[in-house]
Amino acid sequence: MEDPGTAVAGTEVTGTVQHEAWRRRVLPPVEEVRPGLWSLPVPIPHNPLRYVTAYALALAGGGLGLVDTGWESEEGWRALRDGLASIGAGVADVRGVLITHAHWDHIGLGARVAAASGAWVAIHPADLRAVHHFTGKPPEQVVAEEVAFLVALGADPAEAAADVGTPEHMAHLAGMVVPDRLLEHGDRADLPGWSLRAVHTPGHTAGHLCFAEERTGLFFSGDHVLPRISPNVSTSGFGAADPLGDFLASLEVAGSGAAAEVLPAHEWRFRGLAARTAELRAHHERRLAELLAAIRAHPHATPWQLAAHLTWSRPWEDYERRMRIFAVTETDAHLRLLARRGLVVGSGGPVPTWTVAAR
Ligand SMILES: [Zn+2]
Repeated sequence: MEDPGTAVAGTEVTGTVQHEAWRRRVLPPVEEVRPGLWSLPVPIPHNPLRYVTAYALALAGGGLGLVDTGWESEEGWRALRDGLASIGAGVADVRGVLITHAHWDHIGLGARVAAASGAWVAIHPADLRAVHHFTGKPPEQVVAEEVAFLVALGADPAEAAADVGTPEHMAHLAGMVVPDRLLEHGDRADLPGWSLRAVHTPGHTAGHLCFAEERTGLFFSGDHVLPRISPNVSTSGFGAADPLGDFLASLEVAGSGAAAEVLPAHEWRFRGLAARTAELRAHHERRLAELLAAIRAHPHATPWQLAAHLTWSRPWEDYERRMRIFAVTETDAHLRLLARRGLVVGSGGPVPTWTVAAR
């Protein structure tokens, strides 16, 4: 993820307490955003995102619904339970969990929540496939597939193996909760007292869901739209063919709806969904133009080589491990969209290189 700039014209910070906590580098407090709806920050240890915001909704007839759960760690589990206790509830009160997408900071605590409460867990079918990718095979195979994917993008096999890490590093992902309910675009979540409509917004993941609450006009944006950073949009061996094309289309879908306030999964609440989605689209168009210029200057380069010619939030040489994987697979996502637009062509073969299309 990179920082395309903080002040976006047409947006307004509404989570001022969250914003102030960010500035002071502390975890924001639990807040009652609307009657019966709370934001619960769950820390992400040693991560610049700092925390994920889970949301708790009091249900008609008793119990709670959750939107996302938080990064799996003892610290996160404690924060989630303390957060629920501060609103007079406990994990056992949870009846259902909506997962915006199958990333560890959103689904990670789902297994503990489901075990402690018996709650159902719902996700989009495309992200259920991502869950099966990590839970349905040995971690050695997950690692081997990711290394092979990076080698096909031009990585040196030894470097790719070092960047991906060992199967032991990957093994915890096999313990991810396997959701037992599916939500597709337009479906209503089974949370009595609320009217949350699922909005399929592929890009950050193939099955990313936002939720539009139709009575309050609130928009739970997950990681699809964040107020400060641009969500990572990258290719993977188990993801979509053109994730950036999907993401730009999803931004149009999200930005076309009226939202009284945006409740994102990181950073702070804000208003101005249309302006923010327009800015994110403009950001990616600038990146596409930068990549096209890099291909013109360095023809017959692999995605791995091209990533080194782009500007990142820090010098490329300082990138390592996961960061480098994000950068290279994000470059690959931009390449695939340039190819779909007919602007570049790949060479074919096991490790394709790229050139500007003849006009
Ligand atoms: Zn996230």
